Amino acid sequence: MEGLIENNQTVVQSLYTISQIAAKAKNLDELWQPLFSEVLKIMQVDAGTLMILEGDSLVRKTAHGLGEEIMKEPPIEASRGGVSWKAVKTKQEVVLNDLSQADIASEALKAGHFHSLITVPMMVRSQVIGVISIFTQKERNFSEADLSLFKAIANQAALAIISLESEKLLAINKERMEELAALNQISQSVESLFDFEETLYTILALITRQFKADIGVITLFDHRNKLLKAAPPAINLKQNQISDFRHRYDEGIMGEVFCKGMPKFINVLDKETKEVLSRGGIQGVKSVLVAPLKVKSQSLGVINLFILQERNFSKDDLKLFTILSSQAAVVVNSSIILREISEERKKDEALLASIGEGVLAIDRDEKIILLNASGENITGYLAEEIIGKHIFDGVKFCDSAKKEISLPLVEVLSSGKTMMMDNICIKRRHGDIFPARLSIAPTLDAENKIIGAIIVFSDITKEIEIEKMKQELISISTHELRAPITGIKGYLDMILDGDTGGVNQETKETVEELVLINQRLADLVEDLLNVGRIEQGRIAIRPEPTDLEKLITEIIKELSAQAKKKGLEVKFLPKKLSQVQADPDKTKQIIMNLLSNAIKYTPKGKIEIATEDKGDEIYCHVSDTGFGISPQEQKKLFQKFYRVKNKNTWMITGTGLGLWISQKFLEMMKGKIWLISKEGKGSTFSFSLPKA
Ligand code: ADP
Repeated sequence: MEGLIENNQTVVQSLYTISQIAAKAKNLDELWQPLFSEVLKIMQVDAGTLMILEGDSLVRKTAHGLGEEIMKEPPIEASRGGVSWKAVKTKQEVVLNDLSQADIASEALKAGHFHSLITVPMMVRSQVIGVISIFTQKERNFSEADLSLFKAIANQAALAIISLESEKLLAINKERMEELAALNQISQSVESLFDFEETLYTILALITRQFKADIGVITLFDHRNKLLKAAPPAINLKQNQISDFRHRYDEGIMGEVFCKGMPKFINVLDKETKEVLSRGGIQGVKSVLVAPLKVKSQSLGVINLFILQERNFSKDDLKLFTILSSQAAVVVNSSIILREISEERKKDEALLASIGEGVLAIDRDEKIILLNASGENITGYLAEEIIGKHIFDGVKFCDSAKKEISLPLVEVLSSGKTMMMDNICIKRRHGDIFPARLSIAPTLDAENKIIGAIIVFSDITKEIEIEKMKQELISISTHELRAPITGIKGYLDMILDGDTGGVNQETKETVEELVLINQRLADLVEDLLNVGRIEQGRIAIRPEPTDLEKLITEIIKELSAQAKKKGLEVKFLPKKLSQVQADPDKTKQIIMNLLSNAIKYTPKGKIEIATEDKGDEIYCHVSDTGFGISPQEQKKLFQKFYRVKNKNTWMITGTGLGLWISQKFLEMMKGKIWLISKEGKGSTFSFSLPKA
């Protein structure tokens, strides 16, 4: 950067033109052609290439005078080496005068029979971002000055590229096109490429020195307060002076420059300018030189040079000042953009970190692009360890038998459906396996295109433990309850049978009531035991050819007293259908449950049971003329412990387990259960079983 100041008018003019081209380009694609033509024009050659460093490759962005084919050549890998890579690695120009002997990677260049070549690295700070090469057919002597001009314009081009690159980043961020982590990576790479504060300091120091000023400071426009405020770094200002140096956007010469967008100098200070300076504790200033910091047509602020002596500046001085300021503006703009990005990123990161669940994001290629803090905690992996890897190389998923499995990512990525899984385990970094619940949801861009997926997962070890303890408690206590209930039943039966010497009518009724209560208790215990068995997979189903109609007839008999008591007629006409393949005990429980429900929830009318031959299956329908069930309640009816609570049912006792158990039993016997019901009219509960 030093060279361009010490050089002559052409350098200034060339750099100015290049910065103008950069300012006009809306994106990188629009930049290459005009930028490169200008470089060739300045260097007075008609062949060359511009390549940008992308990972381990040098990618050709534009070429001239080498035929069309060159653009089809593959990028030059680092491992291939050659002249261009030499310039990248040494950060020095490469000048060659006999190309026939040189290590040339490009076929087109080899075929072009050029005599000499100069390749210079494009540098931002001390980082190489690409190379520009020029070629001449005839021998031509480039002077030292030519070479340093070439280097300076290559660096100016690099600055323009970086500036457009960072704008592109912001655009990406704003549209939320990519995942946060991807952004994280890009912006980090720009950050490490480019230390804005230091670069700004270098430029500011250079400008201050060039114009022999005593103080150099940049003020940036604060949109909210409409103020121009000094921003670090500054040359020869103390920290407190920097924080005190702020003024209204239209105040003094600085305000005028900011509003009009034109540079200006004064060597007689007006009252307002004096006041601004004294507020900032800046004393003894005689001359002030101010230029706007403009990127495209946007004013970011101004750059101020304060001189303690009276000084005059020429038109050329002002022109040079403008060019240098535009360089500073590019850096300032990039740093503002980067700050915006990093603030956005911090917000998103804070949000992600505050989520208790693990969050893992992948892109369309199923590569991991993000793992939040909880995800790191749960899995033991650090985000940077697995980001960039294919998901199944990064994190291992297993089934409950600890066998490695994959997730249905293709389905999510192609159909856009969200999937939930809870019978899954994840392997921690150190090998142990934990049970997890996870959901996989697609991530969409602004146009609703699927660009990846987010996997939210949690460790459910504790939940499972608690659930297990709960079940154990239930199963132990219900077992314990069984014995006394059976005992009570025995004693009550003895009393009723007169084994204890007989009872009077009144006592008999009370004891009968007690028998019913005891039976309800026994049913509850039985239901709870069944729930435990079903959930722990301990239920034994023994299907065998079973006469369903016979079972129904038996159960009707058992429940007839109950129906009679309510004045309900129970109708059933056996059709002598074929047998079903089912566990008779479980089937009995199902029919018992449906029929006793029909009796319980029907205040008057009748109950009809019908069987139906359906080919491979037999259907059984239990219809009543009872309360019926609303469509909303119907949806929840088969949930564990669910009971309809309304004015009709509150008096009726039950556990809310009968239908849940029936459904589970049927599932295990390859059958189904369903219902049709109308509130106030009645319900028909039906189930199917396979034929024997
Ligand atoms: P329980 O009858 O012990 O409450 P179930 O699981 O057998 O438990 O039934 C769940 C709920 O479904 C009942 O509480 C009741 O509200 C409703 N229900 C079941 N069968 C009928 C029916 N035939 N008519 C109306 N409501 C019913």
